[in-house]
Amino acid sequence: MEGGILNISGAAWEELVAHLLPTWTSDEQGAFLLVKQDQGGPLIHLETIALQRSDFVTQGSDFLELTDEARIGVIKAARTLDCSLCEFHSHPLANTACMSCADMAGLRTFGPHMVWRMKGRPYGACVVAGATVDGIIWGENGTIQPLACVNVNGNVLPTTGLTWKNITGGKYGTL
Ligand SMILES: [Zn+2]
Repeated sequence: MEGGILNISGAAWEELVAHLLPTWTSDEQGAFLLVKQDQGGPLIHLETIALQRSDFVTQGSDFLELTDEARIGVIKAARTLDCSLCEFHSHPLANTACMSCADMAGLRTFGPHMVWRMKGRPYGACVVAGATVDGIIWGENGTIQPLACVNVNGNVLPTTGLTWKNITGGKYGTL
């Protein structure tokens, strides 16, 4: 299977999705997963940092912007556990997960920057919409690969693969 894998427990996945797609608002939500990776294997979920309204400069139905404090906080948490980070956000108004052009405009610099900040550890970026998920993973030296699936307690949830398709098709421009 091409691409990376994220391993997460059923309880943690349910909690994450419930946080990202609440029923009471159509604003996008965000979270960071603290994940570890052994020798290029799957990303393994350790802890979830569910972001709150106060962690965002802007929070709308199609846009999220983290505060500096929130960004510094998650980097600090990852350094404390000596692990990697995987960001998640939601597209509440979509049914099929795929990074938007605005998402990729930010991630184009943020992804490699986070790899650098985390001393070469991979940085994952995922989006959920409806019952679907998609994601990509940055590695050292600007490498990028798709997230192939989320392994929820042994149940494999394949990603939509649309973000990778757009990347390879040049829809986001040069990464
Ligand atoms: Zn988005």
